[in-house]
Amino acid sequence: MGNGTKTTRENRTITVDFHDESNYFQLICDGTAFVEFVLAFVLSIGFQLAHKATCRGDGCLTRHSHYARLRLGGLTIWRIQCASCKAVFTVLPHFILRYRRMSPEVARQALIATHGGLSLEWCATICHISPMALYRLICALGQHGLVTVLTRCHLPLPTYILADEKHSRCLTERVYLTSIVRGRVIWHLGYSASKSAAACTASYGVFQRAALAHEPSYQVRGVLTDGFDSTVSSRRTLFPKARLGFCLRHALNKLPSKLLGLSAPIRKGFRAKFHALLHRCRQRKSLRVVALGQLLRHFANRIDKAVGEDHGERVRHWFEEKKAGWYAVLEDPQMPAMSTVLDQAHNAIDRKLFAMKGFHHPGGSQGAFLTGLAHLYNLIPYQRRARNAGKCGVEIEGGRVPTSDWVLNLQILTSGGYRPAGMGATT
Ligand SMILES: [Zn+2]
Repeated sequence: MGNGTKTTRENRTITVDFHDESNYFQLICDGTAFVEFVLAFVLSIGFQLAHKATCRGDGCLTRHSHYARLRLGGLTIWRIQCASCKAVFTVLPHFILRYRRMSPEVARQALIATHGGLSLEWCATICHISPMALYRLICALGQHGLVTVLTRCHLPLPTYILADEKHSRCLTERVYLTSIVRGRVIWHLGYSASKSAAACTASYGVFQRAALAHEPSYQVRGVLTDGFDSTVSSRRTLFPKARLGFCLRHALNKLPSKLLGLSAPIRKGFRAKFHALLHRCRQRKSLRVVALGQLLRHFANRIDKAVGEDHGERVRHWFEEKKAGWYAVLEDPQMPAMSTVLDQAHNAIDRKLFAMKGFHHPGGSQGAFLTGLAHLYNLIPYQRRARNAGKCGVEIEGGRVPTSDWVLNLQILTSGGYRPAGMGATT
C-alpha cells in the first residue's frame, strides 16, 4: 500500500453487514451491485459516509481498488471512492474485524465474558485466543472516544452529570479513574496517576474538549459528586457555571460516623430520621432549600437534646460544610440527587480491572483500554432477566444504535468512515 503523502490519512473504514459470507463473495464480483448494496446499508442504519470537509456527499461512488487480507486467507477487501471529493472508503464485511484475525463471533464471546467480569486470561482460555489479543482488541475499540461514539447514537451531550474518581491500582501504584456518568452511560473514563486538582482537571479536560469540539456551545449545568473536598475544585475549574451538588445518599451514609461513640441502634435511629428528612425535602414542590435549612437546624438541636451538645456541635459543623452542595441538589429539579448509577458503573469497571493483568502491563495504553471497557459498558445489552433486558445503556438513555447486534454496532460505531446523517460536513 503506497502512502507517499505527508498528510495523515484519515481512517475511512466502514463495516457493512452483508448478512452472510456467501452474499459477500457474490457481490464482490459485480461492482455496481456492490456499491449499491453498501449505499443501501449505510442508508438503512441512518448514517452517512464521512466525506472530505468540502464535499456534500451527493456525488457518485465508484469501486476504486481492492487488496487481499493475507492473514484471513486472502480475503478480498474493496475500497470505494467518492467521485467528487476523492475520499476513499475501505469496506469491511461484517464477518471480519479491522486489523484483526479474530472473528467477530470469537470477539463476541470474549468481550461478553470480559464485560461480565471474567479476567482477560480466563476469557482468552475459554475462547482460545491469547490474552494479549483480547487486550489489544479492547484497546483498538478505545481508540474512538466516548463522546464520538455516543453522539453517533444520537445521545445529546449530558447537561447534568455525575463525576467522581475511582481509586484503583496499577501494580503497586495508586491510580485514579476520572469518570463522568449520565444515567446508564459512561461519558468519560480517564486515567490519572495523581489525584491532585491539576491532574483531575487535565483528565476531565479530555471530555470537555471532545464535547466542545462536537458542540461549541456545550455547557454543563449541574454536577453531582460525593462531596470530597479534594476533587471538588477541579469541577469548579472546568465547569465554572455548573451547579455543584453533593450526593444525598453519601450524606446519609456519612452521618453515623459523625456520631462517634454512640451505640449502633442510636446511630441507626438518627440515620433513619435523617433519611426521612431528606426525603421530605425532595418531595416538596417549592421552597425546598428553605425547608432543608430549617430541618437541618432542628435536627442538630434534637441531637443536642438526645445525646449531648458535643455530638450536636459536630453534626452542625458538618452540615455547615456540606449544606451548600445539598442545597444545589434541591434548587434544581433536574439535578441528580444520588450517585448510585455512577457507583454501579465504577463497580462494573472495577470487577474487570481487579482480575486483569492486562491493565498493569508496563507499556500498556491504559487510556485506550479504559475507553474500550467503557464502550462495552455502554453498548452491551443487559441480560435476559434484568429489568432492561435486551437493551444496552445507550438505548435506555434514549439513544439509537445502528443494528440489533451489539458486536456489529461496536464495529460500526468505532469505524472512521461513518458519521450520523443530518450532521454537517465537519470531521
Ligand atoms: Zn465526497
